[in-house]
Amino acid sequence: MSVTVRVPAKVNVQLAVGAARPDGFHDLANVFLAVGLYDEVTVTPADELRVTCAGPDAGQVPLDRTNLAARAAIVLAERRGLDAAVHIHINKDIPVAGGMAGGSADGAGALLACDALWGTQASREELLDICAELGSDVPFSLVGGAALGTGRGEKLRTLEVGGTFHWVFAMASRGLSTPAVFREFDRLTEGLDVPEPVESQPLLDALAKGDPEALAAAVSNDLQPAALSLFPELADTLAAGRAAGALATLVSGSGPTTAFLARDAESAVKVAEALSASGTCRSVRTTSGPAPGATVTS
Ligand code: ATP
Repeated sequence: MSVTVRVPAKVNVQLAVGAARPDGFHDLANVFLAVGLYDEVTVTPADELRVTCAGPDAGQVPLDRTNLAARAAIVLAERRGLDAAVHIHINKDIPVAGGMAGGSADGAGALLACDALWGTQASREELLDICAELGSDVPFSLVGGAALGTGRGEKLRTLEVGGTFHWVFAMASRGLSTPAVFREFDRLTEGLDVPEPVESQPLLDALAKGDPEALAAAVSNDLQPAALSLFPELADTLAAGRAAGALATLVSGSGPTTAFLARDAESAVKVAEALSASGTCRSVRTTSGPAPGATVTS
């Protein structure tokens, strides 16, 4: 017997970052949109906890207890006094260290899968609580759709979305570490007056209306200058997408994946073709959002 859960990647259509707090974290106003790139997490009873991973980036995924999927299984097992004796297999389609919350997706997926496998019947509140313990982006991976995250990003408010948005994602030749990007943000903003992060009302209105032009005018990412500073070649990828007619171009979260909002599905294909031909990225994917959160598929 085994349980498989499918979990989406995310793009931040707004990422407003406040000054570093005394504890080193930053307050955020973070508008997440789940998109149709998925990892699949399958859990099967085993003699002991074991993690395996398949997919183009599998070599970069830790297979020990630091893997967020393993940590999710351990936390749930500890809360129930169980032994986390389970084989977790991750079918990985979300780029690793790409700013698309791939590790967080696997954490949320393993949690939901183990809950179903062990019959632990955790409430939605408890699942969200465990997700927040695992990491700031993990609760959103569980809920999907669109949401505003505040605090470190883990306090979520679900947002209305009035249509489907078409996206192109360009995967970069190497990863970027999220803590390194925040450190670069701190360096670039040192001595400056960093405003309190607040959500953009025009952006929330654009999502609610399902209006890609209005969304394009409102997207923003305060981490983008830091990601570009650490990975200057990303500017060429952004320029290639803009030249191909993308309505908006941005670094996804802490990067280095770049995201391109297209007017419609047809325009997304054109942007994707131009990006592939540009030689400025490793691979290109078209998809759309919002996508549903973690879902048991079998
Ligand atoms: P975010 O968008 O949430 O900042 P990310 O998408 O940039 O994250 P991840 O793919 O989540 O980055 O990986 C970040 C690091 O986390 C990896 O380099 C890896 O060492 C570690 N990690 C732990 N568990 C996983 C997992 N299941 N999949 C991928 N990376 C994992």
